[in-house]
Amino acid sequence: MPSVLRKEMFHLPEGIIYLDGNSLGPLPKAVPEKVAHMVQAQWGEMLIKGWNTAGWMAQPGRLGDRVGQLIGAPEGSVVLGDTLSLKVFQAVAAALKMRPGRRVILSDTGNFPTDLYMADGLAKLLDDGYEVRVEDPLHIADFIDESVAVVMLTQVDYRTGRLHDMDAITKIAHAKGAVMIWDLAHSAGAIPVDIAASECELAIGCTYKYLNGGPGAPAFIYVRPDLLDTIEPALAGWLGHDAPFAFDLDYRPGAGIERMRVGTPPVIQMASLEAALQVWDGVAMADLRAESVALQEQFIAQIEARVPGLTLASPRDPNARGSQVSFSFPEGYAAMQAVIARGVIGDFRAPDIMRFGFTPLYIDAADVRAAVDHIAAVINENLWDDPQYKVRNRVT
Ligand SMILES: *Cc1c(COP(=O)(O)O)cnc(C)c1O
Repeated sequence: MPSVLRKEMFHLPEGIIYLDGNSLGPLPKAVPEKVAHMVQAQWGEMLIKGWNTAGWMAQPGRLGDRVGQLIGAPEGSVVLGDTLSLKVFQAVAAALKMRPGRRVILSDTGNFPTDLYMADGLAKLLDDGYEVRVEDPLHIADFIDESVAVVMLTQVDYRTGRLHDMDAITKIAHAKGAVMIWDLAHSAGAIPVDIAASECELAIGCTYKYLNGGPGAPAFIYVRPDLLDTIEPALAGWLGHDAPFAFDLDYRPGAGIERMRVGTPPVIQMASLEAALQVWDGVAMADLRAESVALQEQFIAQIEARVPGLTLASPRDPNARGSQVSFSFPEGYAAMQAVIARGVIGDFRAPDIMRFGFTPLYIDAADVRAAVDHIAAVINENLWDDPQYKVRNRVT
C-alpha cells in the first residue's frame, strides 16, 4: 500500500506533535506564497479587475469541484462560501421547502451544537409549527417517521468520533419520505465518503479541519444534481442570482450549484484553501483511511496498556469511528493543558473528553508513540494537578 505520509508538505512547528488537525488543520507550505501572490499581484496590481482576470468569481465553484472529488460528488454539485453554520441554515431551509406538509427537523444529541442552534433559530423564524427534535444517535433511525421533513445529522460525532452509517440512515429517511442532510465537518478529508452513492439530497461541511484551509476557510454545500434546478436557496444573495450584474430588483435563482452562493466570496481565504488542497493530489482516500485506522488502533492499544486512568470514549470498533479517538478523564481539561505544555496538541471537549485527531498526511507511528509517552507521564505522574493547567481559556 502506498503511504500517504507527506510531512514535507506541511509546516509543522519544531517539537510539536499535532493531534488536532480535526479542529484546525496545520499550514501547508504552499499556502504563504500563494496567499502573498493573491494579495500583492492580484489584489494589489489588478485591483477590481481581479474578479475576472484572476478568476476570483469562478473560484467558489472551481474549488467546490476539487472538494467534491474528496467526498464523491460529481462536478458542478459543490460550491464554497460562508461558514458552516450558515450552510446548515441554508440546507435545512431548502430541505423544509421540499416537504411543505411536514414540520419536524430531526437530529441527534451527538450533533455539534451550532447545527442544532441554527435549525432551532430557523424553526422559530418560520413560526409555523416547526420543531427540532433531538434524539439518541444510536437509535436515530427509530425516530424517523412520516412527520419528519428533514433528517440532519453529522456523520462523525465531534466528541467521540462515532460514525453514522450514512447509506443505511439515508435509505430509511427516504423510505419515510424525509429529506436527508449530512454534515461532513469531520468526514471531508478524514474518511472515504461517496456522497453521490448515498443519494442524500444535501451535504455541508467545512474546510479548515481536515482540509487545512486555515482559520476561517469557507464552508461547502453539496446539492444532489437532480435537484439543482428546483432547489430554493433560501439565502437569496445576489451572487446566487441568475444574473448578478443585471441588478434586477427581483431575485431569480442562478443555474445549477451557483444558486447556493450568497455574497462576495472570501477571496484571500480561498487562495489559502486552493493551495492547501494541493496536498491531496495523488492521495487515495482508501489508503488514507487504512493508515488512519492503523494509527488509531496503535494509539488505543498503547494508551490502554500504559495509562489505566484514561477510559476510551470512542467506539472500539474502528469501522464505527471517524479519524479521531477520545478518552475521558475527570480532570480532562487540566490534563490536556499539561499534555499541550509538553508539545502534544489535542483538545478538550466538555465535560471530560480528551480528543486526539489522526491525520496520516502528517502523523506517523513514531509520532503516536511519542505522544503516548507524554500522555502517560501527565496522567500516571499526576502532572496535570497544577494550578497553571486549570485556568480555562476561551477556546478549549
Ligand atoms: C466544526 C463544526 C462546525 C463549525 O461551524 P462554523 O460555522 O464553521 O463555525 C459546525 N458543525 C459541525 C458539525 C462542526 O464539526
